[in-house]
Amino acid sequence: MAEKPHMNLVFIGHVDHGKSTSVGRMLADTGNVDAYLIEKYRKMAEETGKATFEFAWVMDSLKEERDRGVTIDVAHKKFNTDKYYFTVIDAPGHRDFVKNMITGTSQADAAVLVVSAVEGPQAQTREHLFLAFTLGVRQLIIGLNKMDAVKWSEEKYNEAKGEVEKLLKLTGYKDVPVIPYSAYTGDNATKRSENMPWYKGPTILEALNNLKEPAKATELPLRLPVQDVYTITGIGTVPVGRVECGVLKPDTKVIFEPSHVVGEVKSIEMHHEQLPQAIPGDNVGFNVRGIAKNDVRRGDVAGPVDNPPTVAKSFKAQVMVLNHPSVITVGYTPVFHCHTMQIACTFVELLAKLDPATGSVKEENPQFLKTGDAAIVRIQPSRPMVIEKAKEFPQLGRFAIRDMGQTVAAGVCLDVEKKVQ
Ligand code: GDP
Repeated sequence: MAEKPHMNLVFIGHVDHGKSTSVGRMLADTGNVDAYLIEKYRKMAEETGKATFEFAWVMDSLKEERDRGVTIDVAHKKFNTDKYYFTVIDAPGHRDFVKNMITGTSQADAAVLVVSAVEGPQAQTREHLFLAFTLGVRQLIIGLNKMDAVKWSEEKYNEAKGEVEKLLKLTGYKDVPVIPYSAYTGDNATKRSENMPWYKGPTILEALNNLKEPAKATELPLRLPVQDVYTITGIGTVPVGRVECGVLKPDTKVIFEPSHVVGEVKSIEMHHEQLPQAIPGDNVGFNVRGIAKNDVRRGDVAGPVDNPPTVAKSFKAQVMVLNHPSVITVGYTPVFHCHTMQIACTFVELLAKLDPATGSVKEENPQFLKTGDAAIVRIQPSRPMVIEKAKEFPQLGRFAIRDMGQTVAAGVCLDVEKKVQ
């Protein structure tokens, strides 16, 4: 079977606007949840007297069953369309979303922003939209859910669409379809709705098929952030980490930055098996000749000798402040989480605050930033660190900023002032 291109998809949006139900609906209607399971959960839902709709119930129950160690033969949160093979990254709560999007095992290639047609956009709608944009999720579909609950009203659709489009203007998203649907009944999810003949645009499924295929990370130069380093008797030094982009091959030289040491890759292992090569997404251990255990450490990034990972003296970034108790001013030094690196970095310049109304610069050199602000800033790491322009290496160019146990901001790197090695 010819493999379909793979896409990581995230469902975002305000709590209770119908993300879980929508995921369940897409899985079921594309034939990825067995009918008998849905029937089973419908019965369980009835028996326990829960008013929960069956698809939300499917999603919750999958988790519960997993927790209890029961095996379910469902391709959990993966579904196929005519064109793509989708993996759904869950974004139940705001925090998990931030974590998933930044340090997560899979970066979303596209997002479906679920907005209830009953309530219209709410606080988290805006926040998730901004965050998705800031973190470089470039393709977006907006689903106006619960159209059944507003009697399939075109007027309600136009009203909510108007509000959503105002929000969209705050970001750089273009050509975003706003689709009226019902996760509950399935109208315009995968099948065209007879209840909304006034709507001529794509269904959710069609919009998913219309997404553009993401650039292949294999074609970029190698970047492998080191998670850990082991010494194995008889083998030698074995760094462990995930290939973010490019290809790792035996008998090639790699450089580790910022430690600035070179070694030769001898063998690569994943799940105790030798690999002829490792590609993006592979979590591998690889034996490197020419380096000692203490030469490399967590936070180093391996790359080709002729295209080494970029070590920053400082970098320019676009950040969004998600949750800060007071204000961010020059001198603020929280911990940045970037690939496998955790490092204190200082805000050395607040270059510009971006206008939520137009997306353009609202204020040059603002005095401070507070929750909800998007801004361009200059950051200085307290020690050498590898970070890349998000445009060139999306996987290595985003970060979360944490302080006092919470994620206070997230951002992407726009430009790097290289450190002379
Ligand atoms: P989430 O918090 O965004 O994941 O939202 P859920 O999927 O858990 O849904 C929240 C509530 O909205 C549940 O009670 C659902 O049954 C209900 N809901 C979801 N989709 C629809 C819909 O299309 N129509 C109606 N009427 N209710 C819906």
